[in-house]
Amino acid sequence: MKLPILQYGDPILRAKGKRIEKIDERIRQLTQDMIETMYAANGVGLAAQQVGEALQLTVIDVSQVEDRPSTMKLNGKDVDPRTAMPLILINPGIKLAGETELAMEACLSFPEITGEIERAKSVTISARTLEDSQIEIEASGLLGRAIQHEVDHLNGILFIDRMNSAAKAALSSRLKRMQKETRRGAAKDRRVAAVETAL
Ligand SMILES: [Zn+2]
Repeated sequence: MKLPILQYGDPILRAKGKRIEKIDERIRQLTQDMIETMYAANGVGLAAQQVGEALQLTVIDVSQVEDRPSTMKLNGKDVDPRTAMPLILINPGIKLAGETELAMEACLSFPEITGEIERAKSVTISARTLEDSQIEIEASGLLGRAIQHEVDHLNGILFIDRMNSAAKAALSSRLKRMQKETRRGAAKDRRVAAVETAL
C-alpha cells in the first residue's frame, strides 16, 4: 500500500528512530509499503520517518539511475549494486571513510528543492536485514550518498542541515513557507491531489 510522504515541517522528520528489536509482521508490512511508496515517488531511498514512523528502518534502490554510478561490496565481496536492490536496512550503524565530495541531492520530503551536499566518498554500514541476518555493506558513488542521506533521516537530520550557509539562506523563505503549509495541512491535500492525478 502506498503511504503518504510527510513533508518538511512535520515534527516526526526530526525524531530519532527507535531501534527495531523484533522483526514481526508489522515491520514486514511497513517495509513493503515503504518500497512501494519509494517506487511510486521515483525516489532512490525512503526512511521510516518520512512515512510517520520514528524507527531505524530505511529502504534504498539506486538501480534506475544510470548517470550516477555506484560501487558496492556485500560482506566483503564486490557485487553489482543493481542485483542487490532494493536494500532494506534495519538498525544501521555507519562509518564514513576517506575524503568528501560535493554532489546534488533531493529529498522526497522537500518537493522541488535540490542542493549540493558534501558527504564522505565511501561508507561502511552494518545493518540487520528483514530475514534477521546481519550484513556489512561498503558503498561509494550514488549508493554511498543515498545511504548517508537515509541514515541521517533515521537520526532526525535533514539534507538542508548539511547545506552551506549561503544555500540555506537562499532557501530560507521557501522553507518557512513549506513548514507553515505542512502545519496547516495544506501539503496533505496537495499530496492527495497529486496521487489522484498520477493514477
Ligand atoms: Zn530525504
